Amino acid sequence: MTAHTTPALSVPSASAPFRQTTIERRDLRADDVRIDIAYAGICHSDIHQVREEWGTSPFPMVPGHEIAGVVSEVGESVTRYAVGDRVGVGCMVDSCGECEMCRADEEQFCTKGSVMTYAGEGYDGEITMGGYAGSVAVSERFVCRIPEGLGLDAAAPLLCAGITTYAPLKRWGAGPDARVAVIGMGGLGHMGVKIAAAMGAEVTVLSRTLAKAEDARAYGAAHQYSTKEEATFTELAGNFDLILNTVSADLPMEDYLALLKPFGAMVNVGIPNSPYSVPPGSVVGQSKVLAGSMIGGIAMTQEMLDFCAEHGIAATIETISADEVDAAYDKVVAGDVRYRYVIDVSTITPTD
Ligand code: NAP
Ligand code: ZN
Repeated sequence: MTAHTTPALSVPSASAPFRQTTIERRDLRADDVRIDIAYAGICHSDIHQVREEWGTSPFPMVPGHEIAGVVSEVGESVTRYAVGDRVGVGCMVDSCGECEMCRADEEQFCTKGSVMTYAGEGYDGEITMGGYAGSVAVSERFVCRIPEGLGLDAAAPLLCAGITTYAPLKRWGAGPDARVAVIGMGGLGHMGVKIAAAMGAEVTVLSRTLAKAEDARAYGAAHQYSTKEEATFTELAGNFDLILNTVSADLPMEDYLALLKPFGAMVNVGIPNSPYSVPPGSVVGQSKVLAGSMIGGIAMTQEMLDFCAEHGIAATIETISADEVDAAYDKVVAGDVRYRYVIDVSTITPTD
């Protein structure tokens, strides 16, 4: 097997525009599959990292951890996938496979450190390059099957936005008896609404405006409120069992914790750049929980994909070409996306 080159969208330095270039992928290892990528979603985490909002990032960077495509080649010991299978890859591409967390199917918390799909350091010392590219080689342990009935384009965002919302909704009991609020209806938030509604919960969307109210209803939300209105916080005080916070910016935690019932949980998946500021009484006072959640393991990612197919849900997307990615980043930051940009990677045409 020979080294494999593929078109890719690469950022040479923080906040520089994307370049359409060619990168090299590794020769297949025995347990690798090579995937011809069809679509890659743009997650807000890509923007945080390209713009170094979480600290320094390695460059050049090829982001992308919402990958959907078709298997084009398999390594000699691959058993789970065959050429032609429709598959996806999310935020991780390796882990030790042996530690307590890996054995519990929570590879994201591998004690040796899981390897992120891009801007991560592989166990071979190479910096990983993600899904804004024509192909990728990944161990079959980190590949999920995309069920028939889910389009590859609308399925791509499930590999991050889907699992990141499914995992905490499941863990914290979203279901027929639960009142669940989702703060922020962006890429993660709109999947949170669809998944929580499909789990049977009574869903409320807390958005900055009511501009997305019609969509929220279509996705299964029972109620929508504007977080710009003070009356929202009075009316909803003590109302929710679970709040899923998907916002990428600072929020006044105390105001939102006040919306929980006693014993309720507020789970943060958004990752702003500054510490939470929380008066102790706002959690201690009524035995509330302030929690976080980080993506989800591979087995649960497959479970989520199957759940979405079974319930007929997927991401609501805007498909863009390679030359629209820089503008799309600005639009995501401005909240101007309904609800996930997905790159058609066949439009990447290397200029060098
Ligand atoms: P997104 O599409 O930009 O959605 C974020 C939403 O938050 C926006 O649509 C907006 O909703 C709301 N929002 C944005 N700026 C706001 C502000 N200044 N004040 C209040 N609300 C604001 O982003 P995303 O891709 O869903 O990602 C959201 C966050 O989750 C990012 O920080 C990302 O890095 C993080 N993330 C975490 C994980 C994890 O495993 N924990 C995984 C993936 C992503 P409204 O317009 O409805 O208010
Ligand atoms: Zn993501």
